[in-house]
Amino acid sequence: MASRNNKSLPEEVIFYYSPVYLQHITLPHHPEQPIRLTAIVEHLTKNGLWEMVTHRPVDETRFGNVAVSKYILNVHPKQHIDYIKRKAGEAHRVGKTIIPFSDGGDTNVSGKTFDVGRKAVAAALDATDVVCKGEVYRAFCAIRPPGHHCERNRPMGFCVFNNVAIAARYAQREYGIERVAIVDWDVHHGNGTQAIFYDDPSVLYISLHQYPHYPGTGSAGERGLGDAEGTTINYPLPAGTNEKTYEDIFVGKIVPAIKEFKPGLIMISAGFDAHKDDPLGDMLLTEDSFSLFTRILSDAASSVCDGKIVSLLEGGYNLEGLAKSAAAHIQALGGMESIVQTET
Ligand SMILES: [Zn+2]
Repeated sequence: MASRNNKSLPEEVIFYYSPVYLQHITLPHHPEQPIRLTAIVEHLTKNGLWEMVTHRPVDETRFGNVAVSKYILNVHPKQHIDYIKRKAGEAHRVGKTIIPFSDGGDTNVSGKTFDVGRKAVAAALDATDVVCKGEVYRAFCAIRPPGHHCERNRPMGFCVFNNVAIAARYAQREYGIERVAIVDWDVHHGNGTQAIFYDDPSVLYISLHQYPHYPGTGSAGERGLGDAEGTTINYPLPAGTNEKTYEDIFVGKIVPAIKEFKPGLIMISAGFDAHKDDPLGDMLLTEDSFSLFTRILSDAASSVCDGKIVSLLEGGYNLEGLAKSAAAHIQALGGMESIVQTET
């Protein structure tokens, strides 16, 4: 475990980032670019948060590329892993960096995507480790590619492995955590995560998202299957939804649902593309909104699972909105609201 700095947050937050994540390359026009993470890192550095979180280098985790594949297999079939590996190999061989999948969701694969994708999963697994062991109670992974659109056997919507699903399964199988709650506030519905757990009553999947919007799923009527009916909860929201509406849903619906479900761990699919400046969404949230939602979920986590939260970056495509929102989220995870300036 990396040592803590002199300046720290009231609640220790483990922060995962690696320059390796910049090696997944997408086409020039593509919104999901390496600079997204650079923007977050620069902003955290500028406002002092970089020194206040505890850094956990991904290369120092026990999850090398081979070890990670074992846990990916808990969610994705070998065929899917081989497909991503093959496509990345093709991209490498033809000397062109990028192969776009024709998935309707603009997913690109470059020569390093397979390795980078496994490193993203490695951070999610290690974060789950440290939180489930009780070493810390909060972790945030600044990773890419994102994950929540990826289905069991289909890369989709910029996503090649479903990071949050793999980590949720890992928490269950390695730590005996019976129930995991995943809250997904990305502006897009997490169709992949929903599909993976749709018939599984042990994972509560809650999503708030713009609707109708990409990927088209996430109506209120999608509630889970069989024994799992009621453990998928969708809040489809119209374009132009503001913070107050979100807050009412968080306080009035999501927190009670989490308290009733009694998860041993809360995971957040933390996309920041519902920010008002985001080019891929039409919502009216600000960075303060993400601070608010984080505090609401932190309170819920304190009452049901000793405060345990693992948060993974999903979308967010306006660089300033993304960086400020991620910073606000991390501050709130650490129990700090406004001590650090959020000016860029
Ligand atoms: Zn999104």
